Amino acid sequence: MRIAGKINYPIQQQKPLKENTAAYCFIGEIDLPKTGDGILVVGDECPKRQSDNRIINMKEEFFQVIQTPNNHQNCNTTSVKKGHSRGGWTGDVGLSYSQNFNLYDPYLSELDIKINWGLCLNNINTIHPSVNIVDFDPVTNTFSGITKLKAKDAIKDFKRSKIEGGFSGVGLLTYYPLPKTTYHEKKHIEQYKNKLFWLFTGAIFEVNFLEPPANWCEITGDPINALLLEIDLKRRVKLIIAKYLDDFATWQEITNNEPEANEAGHNFVINVLIPKLKEYSESN
Ligand SMILES: [Zn+2]
Repeated sequence: MRIAGKINYPIQQQKPLKENTAAYCFIGEIDLPKTGDGILVVGDECPKRQSDNRIINMKEEFFQVIQTPNNHQNCNTTSVKKGHSRGGWTGDVGLSYSQNFNLYDPYLSELDIKINWGLCLNNINTIHPSVNIVDFDPVTNTFSGITKLKAKDAIKDFKRSKIEGGFSGVGLLTYYPLPKTTYHEKKHIEQYKNKLFWLFTGAIFEVNFLEPPANWCEITGDPINALLLEIDLKRRVKLIIAKYLDDFATWQEITNNEPEANEAGHNFVINVLIPKLKEYSESN
């Protein structure tokens, strides 16, 4: 082994992938200037230095769940897949990441996955004309959209909730239980997070095992070749991320997440909302 010289070079920053498809929008930029230094080694041994800020495992903190204002543009049913959006939507997944190279050993140093969702009060009013939308805040234990005197009427409507979604019986609803929609969407968020968690566990693993070419030590001695190597590694990382995002889009297409979400919304109405409304109607 021969040590050819000490070099200083900046660790390259990757700006986030920016694409727009029906399923994703890539937003935000992470740009943290950093420099690293290393020993350039020529010969058949070519050690790579491990970095402290390398992402090894997925973490809960990589996820951000964002509730958009009510009646967001995604509430427009023509733009929502499978016409699913009635009272809410869970959809856009935004991803940004930052990749670094430490002696041409690429790794992810930042990962930020945003899951956006929202409520569509206008859509509820379209399906149930002049309905009163009743909401419950489990933190403050308070209701909105209903008076105590009308609580029993609302309970009658809420008992029409069906486990498979929608409401049974004839006649228009007078009171709509908004938590049925909220907890339906919360279940979708949980489904998305679980799937993305496991997919990105695979993506991180693959990126961490990316190898530069066998002769990369010699290549880095030449600035132009070093640049080409770096471009190639960035491209390979981008392809890995894109592949896992494709897997997520395919999963969204082929998996029927609705029954579980419908059940979650229904269960909240039956097990929490109705008992709380009874309490409310009987309170002083
Ligand atoms: Zn749904």
